[in-house]
Amino acid sequence: MPPRRKRSSATQSAATRARYAQRRQNRLAKVDNDLTDAQWGQLLDAWAGCAYCQAEAPALQRDCIQPVSRGGRYTLTNVVPACASCNASKHNTEVTGWLRRKKLDERAFLLRHATILQSLAPDAD
Ligand SMILES: [Zn+2]
Repeated sequence: MPPRRKRSSATQSAATRARYAQRRQNRLAKVDNDLTDAQWGQLLDAWAGCAYCQAEAPALQRDCIQPVSRGGRYTLTNVVPACASCNASKHNTEVTGWLRRKKLDERAFLLRHATILQSLAPDAD
């Protein structure tokens, strides 16, 4: 095997880095837009309140179960309605750890989430 020359990232031009960054942004933007308004409406109906504390807040927010900063996206399977209080408290922490810390029912949440997703997507089994 001939020795392969490693290209260090330091030798990458700024233009190349910018191009990769742009590509990454485009890729994320595409996935981010996956959740349609209709799907969001279905989620609101199905949960009928905050997914975490069941509060019937007037303006529920789209919360990514898996935070965006941890690779989560705004998709049907990753978004639940959350009240402002839960959304702010959970922020970008990992959901199950946060539920436990808040003394919320982690198991009930995961079960309900799975049940709701099944009812919303009967074709995908
Ligand atoms: Zn809540």
